Amino acid sequence: MIDLSGKVAVVTGGSRGIGLACAERLVEVGAQVGLIARDKDRVEKAAKSLGIEAFGVAADVSDAEQAQNAISQIEEKLGPVDILVNNAGLTRDGLLVRMSEADWDDVLNVNLKGAFHLTKAIARGMMKRRFGRIINITSVVGLMGNAGQANYAASKAGLIGFTKATARELASRNVLVNAIAPGYIETDMTDALSEDVKTALMGQIPLGRLGQGSDIANSVVFLSSDLAGYITGQVMVVDGGMVM
Ligand code: NDP
Repeated sequence: MIDLSGKVAVVTGGSRGIGLACAERLVEVGAQVGLIARDKDRVEKAAKSLGIEAFGVAADVSDAEQAQNAISQIEEKLGPVDILVNNAGLTRDGLLVRMSEADWDDVLNVNLKGAFHLTKAIARGMMKRRFGRIINITSVVGLMGNAGQANYAASKAGLIGFTKATARELASRNVLVNAIAPGYIETDMTDALSEDVKTALMGQIPLGRLGQGSDIANSVVFLSSDLAGYITGQVMVVDGGMVM
């Protein structure tokens, strides 16, 4: 039912986890996909695994020049970007009183400023072409907060404000901007959690399971499609019912 043939998508943090799952799904429904991540070998390997419809570029999204350069390389290879998934993110957890300034800056620079750099790099072109879909991967932690994640929660809440402001700015040019707030999804990021923590989390999830990358990828594909043509400035919570 969803056909994204002819569309070019960019997924930041597309070399593994949720980003790679999104890229796989986008390719399945016909899009060409540019992947961005810092580790060159891994991002190129991920692109290769997706076939000729994908192209991987090594870049750090927190650096404006690298972000712009990555978009230029992808557009040269695949064509103008129609869909941007701002997914690259990291955690540097710790209680506030012990949190270093570097841990605060690293998380804000990648999770929030990275989305700013990428959005800026593609927005003008999308506006000119009167089409664009921007999907920012936030987190339920940006809605609820979480002890030990002041930096991460601030970055993800910031991403929600950024989503709403840019949705208002770009709507008249048919560029739709939405956020997806995943709950706990099984990836490298959550592998670090102990079995006890996972079991405790499970108790808070009405659907009784941790999420998979594909759960987020399906929502990304929906928001990228014509089916979502009247949705902008929203936060879609994909968390098995954890936050209601
Ligand atoms: P992973 O840690 O599995 O993957 C993170 C991806 O981001 C990797 O591809 C990594 O590649 C890339 N990345 C990290 N820093 C940068 C950077 N500075 N520039 C470019 N790429 C970067 O994370 P997940 O797949 O679990 O998470 C993806 C997104 O979903 C994140 O934004 C996360 O906050 C969010 N999320 C995840 C949840 C979960 O439960 N897993 C829950 C809610 C939200 P490399 O290291 O090579 O740069």
